[in-house]
Amino acid sequence: MSAVDRAGKQFIGGEWIASTSADLLDVENPTTTEVLARVPRGSAEDAEAAVTAAAAAFEAWSTTPVAERAAIIWCAADILKARADDIARTITLEVGMPLAMSKAVQVGRPIEVLTSLADATERLEWAEQIDTTLVVREPLGVVVAITPWNVPLHQTIAKVGAALLAGCTVVHKPSEVAPLSAYELADVFAEAGLPAGVYNVVTGVGETVGEALIGHPKVDGISFTGSTAVGRHIGAVAAQTVKKVALELGGKGPAVVLPGADVAKAAQAAAARCFTNSGQVCAALSRLIVPREELATAEQALVDYVNEQVLGDPLDEATTLGPLVSETQRSRVLKLVEAGAAEGAKVVVGGPGAAAPDKGYFVAPTVFSDVETSMTIAQAEVFGPVLCILPYDTVEEAVAIANDSEYGLVGAVFGTDDEESTKVASKIRVGMIGVNGGRINVKAPFGGYRQSGNGREFGTYGLEEFLEVKSMNFPGAERVVRPAV
Ligand code: NAD
Repeated sequence: MSAVDRAGKQFIGGEWIASTSADLLDVENPTTTEVLARVPRGSAEDAEAAVTAAAAAFEAWSTTPVAERAAIIWCAADILKARADDIARTITLEVGMPLAMSKAVQVGRPIEVLTSLADATERLEWAEQIDTTLVVREPLGVVVAITPWNVPLHQTIAKVGAALLAGCTVVHKPSEVAPLSAYELADVFAEAGLPAGVYNVVTGVGETVGEALIGHPKVDGISFTGSTAVGRHIGAVAAQTVKKVALELGGKGPAVVLPGADVAKAAQAAAARCFTNSGQVCAALSRLIVPREELATAEQALVDYVNEQVLGDPLDEATTLGPLVSETQRSRVLKLVEAGAAEGAKVVVGGPGAAAPDKGYFVAPTVFSDVETSMTIAQAEVFGPVLCILPYDTVEEAVAIANDSEYGLVGAVFGTDDEESTKVASKIRVGMIGVNGGRINVKAPFGGYRQSGNGREFGTYGLEEFLEVKSMNFPGAERVVRPAV
């Protein structure tokens, strides 16, 4: 179905049907500031219809053998691969990530996550016998997936792929800022043979569609990726009906450079992880913690890194940094940059008033040095192209600085000795940590400590978020019967 045909429509019960709300939301191209597409503002009635469709589809889907569910997901991955270039372009137009990077991060990565989740169904222990009891894992039920705009297809696949493989049916509310890949995904799943009602998409804003979904009594679980503030609210509302909730929230990733390590190399590695997608990444390494005597080396390495960046149209091959996603996001980031300078952090490059393209929501990449943990810029998740350097005198102090955060999503340690670096990494309170250059692995759990969340995505850990555990007690160990999965 073409984009025009589905204008004003939601994907509910396997069909593109008109929203009960006539209002449309503009999806903006942040590079040109022009309207790229319009999607329904959505209504509580749309949410109700989608939950009803998902509930009706649950029994058949949850009892479909897992190998059949996985076969549909493999097929969906193949279709995504065939459409990767078009989808990457769509996401670049709505989010602003440079196109070459979008192909890898916005589409390549989700395909990898989807296929590794399908693989994980074979590794998962679906049943375990404990004496006379068989402990079985069963689908959680109707799941609501709520996603943000920064890596929209990836965040969707990480939760929706796992939920579908686990045997759940899903109502997905994509971000109103970047909803277009959810439309593509609905087509892909339908073509792959996913039965009607198993995956439903309702577009709209949090206050109406979101609220109707998170409080709905027929919803058994919520998987949310987004800001910590909204995550807290969702947890509180969901508690009223005791739903299972998995939250993937913000971050303020520390990168600790140990004495003797190559500071310039570590600084550039952290910068690559901080400035990707113009800093709009939850797993950004945005706090570089370096030995005090190495401060100047770190500063120079980051100036060199920033000077190599090319800000501009993300469709242009030379561009390395596109715009921020919206004017709201740009003004939020600029205020934090101003606060950094006003609170006394040293501007190494960029900073308040630094030049950036004036058309589109661009912000000049900024590095602050001599930052103290008490400063706003050291604590707030900027979600923009801003990196802080914090000096330390002892390794103990470096660990304390790394842990001085309400967040605990990712971190990194750069050292010269793997054992020494691992000791330090063990003391940093985050859900994922890179040791001497190690990268995030899509087969291993992804998620945070503290106010970065309480869920895990990817691999068998990701599947488990969407499973209930049932103890089936038999009169004797020899009488245990294993149900089919
Ligand atoms: P956001 O919290 O504003 O919105 C996320 C989603 O929640 C959107 O779909 C929005 O419509 C919906 N929403 C808002 N209010 C709601 C409500 N009352 N009820 C139900 N749904 C509601 O976040 P954002 O601005 O889209 O994304 C940026 C944030 O996401 C950052 O804080 C970032 O760190 C976080 N994030 C986390 C991860 C992770 O995996 N930990 C990944 C990416 C982004």
